[in-house]
Amino acid sequence: MSTVYDIIVIGGGASGLMVAGGAALRGKKVLLLEKNKQLGEKLKITGGGRCNVTNAEEDMRILLKNYGDAEPFLYSLFAQFSNKDTVIFFESRGLPIVVQARKRAFPHTENAHDVYRVMEAYCTHPLITIKINSPVQKIVTQGNKITQVIVKGVIYEGRSVVLATGGMSHPETGSTGDGFKWLTDLGHSVEKPTPSIVPLAVSDTWVKSLAGVSLSFMKISFYVEGKRKFYKIGKVLFTHFGLSGPLILNAAKAVGDLLHDGLVTATIDMYPDTEFDVLERKILSVFDAHKNKTFKNIFKECVPDGMVDAVVSLLPATLSETKVHSISKEDRKKIIHLLKSMPVTITGLMGYDRAVVADGGVPLDEIDTKTMRSKKINNLFVTGDLLHINRPSGGFSLQLCWTTGYVAGENA
Ligand SMILES: Cc1cc2nc3c(=O)[nH]c(=O)nc-3n(C[C@H](O)[C@H](O)[C@H](O)COP(=O)(O)OP(=O)(O)OC[C@H]3O[C@@H](n4cnc5c(N)ncnc54)[C@H](O)[C@@H]3O)c2cc1C
Repeated sequence: MSTVYDIIVIGGGASGLMVAGGAALRGKKVLLLEKNKQLGEKLKITGGGRCNVTNAEEDMRILLKNYGDAEPFLYSLFAQFSNKDTVIFFESRGLPIVVQARKRAFPHTENAHDVYRVMEAYCTHPLITIKINSPVQKIVTQGNKITQVIVKGVIYEGRSVVLATGGMSHPETGSTGDGFKWLTDLGHSVEKPTPSIVPLAVSDTWVKSLAGVSLSFMKISFYVEGKRKFYKIGKVLFTHFGLSGPLILNAAKAVGDLLHDGLVTATIDMYPDTEFDVLERKILSVFDAHKNKTFKNIFKECVPDGMVDAVVSLLPATLSETKVHSISKEDRKKIIHLLKSMPVTITGLMGYDRAVVADGGVPLDEIDTKTMRSKKINNLFVTGDLLHINRPSGGFSLQLCWTTGYVAGENA
């Protein structure tokens, strides 16, 4: 006779682990099915390996505003498990949390594996059976109830089923969108996922030649057909395909919208807090101090580290060898103009393989946001990246996983 579990959790990522551990503490018999050889593969690469585990904003209204249209749905969920509870959760399990710039909270070890280890320990419980290498292939329903979950021909039965299979970003970690297909089959209206927190692809060779360089304080302005639409100030990382870093990731959704309207270009201002004429005076004083040197020999004093070759590549070739005293006023203005607006052409958003988060998923009005129960299938609960909730980077995604996972674990 096959065992009937109280809860079958499909997916052993951040939210699935939270569900399983919490449910076992309530005395529920849990089966956790994970298709990978290991649990928590995406969790282990979060935050560039440092894991931005939550955001420490103390004002709940300000915190929830980051989730856009989902804000009103989230109050009752966060009343049950908030960002403060996340900090208590990890600290009480021996992992102190530190808060860094923009209220991003990290484990003090800055090691995502430590976060994973806490979750692994949380799920090491006699009531939890973990089956890795177990890709769920089919979900069987009768009426509006799931009756069976099938893995490689083996049938599992559970009183409740929690779908925690993640979204579409970084599919090599296991989240390949299986949950979206099942949810559609089960009668949910799934918003089509598109990469939302994702780097930008550009066509400019000067950008690609800077792969690995980052500018910690710059302003990037975005244009459609030459008309400025918006700008952001912050850190940019140059990569071999284009632009990344927190500022870019958080601008990507808006840039994606602009791409529907025409040619999208951008300009990068390397000195956002210095007006054109002030910068010109600074450059003139560098020129005055080195009148007889060639421009290429003094240019590094005028340009942020790592940017010299890129700027020079965009200036007339003859300028490099020109003695500083012979540089014309017109060429000087050209140089300053470039420092304040390096031109970039955006060709698109990178794909799921590079996305931190892809939006899309089940709209929250199809979920009971006090319990995470599906309004279409009585014994189904949905967590984490399967939900259609837009948010920026900064710990907001994992917080959603901890919150929705906790609530599903309490109610399934
Ligand atoms: C590179 C990167 C960095 C990130 N950094 C941060 C960060 O610092 N802070 C932050 O807040 N957010 C970050 N995120 C987002 C965050 O990682 C996700 O929001 C979160 O991991 C989603 O958790 P989840 O439980 O919904 O799904 P996942 O973590 O994707 O887990 C889903 C699990 O389900 C399994 N699965 C899928 N299909 C099946 C199936 N058919 N059968 C069985 N198992 C299945 C998968 O193998 C996977 O293990 C980052 C994302 C990426 C890609």
